[in-house]
Amino acid sequence: MPMDLHKLLKKILEQFAIEFEDREIKGELFGESLKINADSDRLTQVFVNLIGNALLHTTSGGKIKVSIGRWKPKVSSEEGEKKTGGRKIRAASAGDVRERPEEDNDKQLEWVRVTIEDTGEGIPTENLEHIFDRFYRVDQSRDRETGGTGLGLAIAKEFVQAHGGEIQVKSELGKGTYFSVFLPINF
Ligand code: ATP
Ligand code: MG
Repeated sequence: MPMDLHKLLKKILEQFAIEFEDREIKGELFGESLKINADSDRLTQVFVNLIGNALLHTTSGGKIKVSIGRWKPKVSSEEGEKKTGGRKIRAASAGDVRERPEEDNDKQLEWVRVTIEDTGEGIPTENLEHIFDRFYRVDQSRDRETGGTGLGLAIAKEFVQAHGGEIQVKSELGKGTYFSVFLPINF
């Protein structure tokens, strides 16, 4: 079903508005109206979890930045590429300034990228590869008043992949975490 991704993200951020205010965290949304073919309920669940996670792991005075934009995959046979929806894409990393390929080899499929970036506690490198596993939580032992089940990211990954997309994470301990969600516009 066609839906406006920007509208959806704006609505989710508005739903979290009180939490942002209470915790004195700044929420920002960059990008413009962008229509894609997707199940808006499922994508809502994905982004509610990603933004909810960012809020949980960011202390007061911090910032959560959500950006949305078109994205062009680099189609190549280089190492590090990801196979997505039968197509090979190589994702950009956090803060990576990319050059757009002169020629779009993949005219059939256009992509959007949504990034959720927080200035929170970050995730230790050794834990990063596990965070999409079911029931995995980085600090199970610590007594958190807001303990989740550890299912959110596993479900998010499943939904994104069911849409022919891909979800990635980068993080630096003590600095913050950066999730990227890649989605085909016409799935
Ligand atoms: P649930 O989402 O099921 O309520 P949860 O939030 O603990 O529980 P996930 O959303 O799957 O589970 O996240 C898994 C773990 O990844 C979290 O417990 C946390 O340790 C870590 N994590 C996720 N997002 C962030 C983030 N933005 N900053 C720091 N750690 C994070
Ligand atoms: Mg969660």
